[in-house]
Amino acid sequence: MKIELSKSEVKAYEEIIFDDNLLFELNAIPQMVVNKDRVIVRVNKKFTKLFGYSSDEILGKQTATLTPSLEKFQEYAQYFVHTKEGIIKSEELEYKKKDATIFWVKLEGNPINKSGRELLILWSFIDITKEVYYRKELELLASTDPMTKLYNRRYFSELATTVVQLAKRSGLVYSVIMVDIDKFKRINDTYGHTIGDEVIIALSKVLKYNGRESDIVSRWGGEEFVILLPQTKQNSAMEIAEKLRKNVEVLHVVIGDDKKISFTISLGVATVHLQNCFDVEDVINNADKALYFAKEGGRNRVEVFTQ
Ligand code: GH3
Ligand code: MG
Ligand code: MG
Repeated sequence: MKIELSKSEVKAYEEIIFDDNLLFELNAIPQMVVNKDRVIVRVNKKFTKLFGYSSDEILGKQTATLTPSLEKFQEYAQYFVHTKEGIIKSEELEYKKKDATIFWVKLEGNPINKSGRELLILWSFIDITKEVYYRKELELLASTDPMTKLYNRRYFSELATTVVQLAKRSGLVYSVIMVDIDKFKRINDTYGHTIGDEVIIALSKVLKYNGRESDIVSRWGGEEFVILLPQTKQNSAMEIAEKLRKNVEVLHVVIGDDKKISFTISLGVATVHLQNCFDVEDVINNADKALYFAKEGGRNRVEVFTQ
């Protein structure tokens, strides 16, 4: 069924809607109008709700007020694309509320182009924080080991391939350290599996926080870890391995009331000069061989792979 609206009815409705600018004010999507200097000249109710600014507070401010930093504000310019229809679309961008909360949006801009007048743009904010959050959660789950929060083997291999490819192009050197807890079965047998887990977690913290920022630490399996050291020669890799060994040697894992466990690790180091063009898997195998020698040599020691 379609009811014919009379001209006077249409006019009456329009008056209600347009007089108070209701279509804009009551829009379910947060919107702002920005001038050519990226200064905010109008916002709707949903916008003030989303960002936490009253319209008085935000009018006259540059949109940089809404971005997490000035760098981001400048950087964002490159993430906008103009569609054939003249609409401006953005990728996922981070924005900042008045209370400093960061959230994720996609932006859509509609130019308001009245001849002889300054060009304004109506921007609509599509909140995608939930989607981005869940995706990041999923990515984290897929790339890390839940117990130690270190990278898992699969993700490590992915990262390592990229790092090594970059290194190959510039002819750089890199090293790998393989780590295994000494006589770990004994710890499990004496204190139980849960305490064994705590020991693994304690070790992963040492590996992660006592190395360097650039090193990529992963849980390779049970109580074995692999560390990739980009741009690191054999001597430096040995020094780092030795430092880790010592840090673990003096570490006490506190269990229950005042009870402490100490343990040691063995480490194998392998280094590649990229004129040799080894795959990272080969280097890990070499580090594993060196680790074997460290175990044979009495444990709690660092060995280096040599051809
Ligand atoms: P070695 O000095 O030769 O390395 O002796 P080891 O006893 O440590 O021998 P190995 O490295 O082969 O032992 C690994 C043990 O680690 C066997 C397995 O039961 C235990 N393990 C593997 N993953 C976990 C885990 O997630 N939690 C605990 N608690 N134990 C684990
Ligand atoms: Mg072991
Ligand atoms: Mg082992």
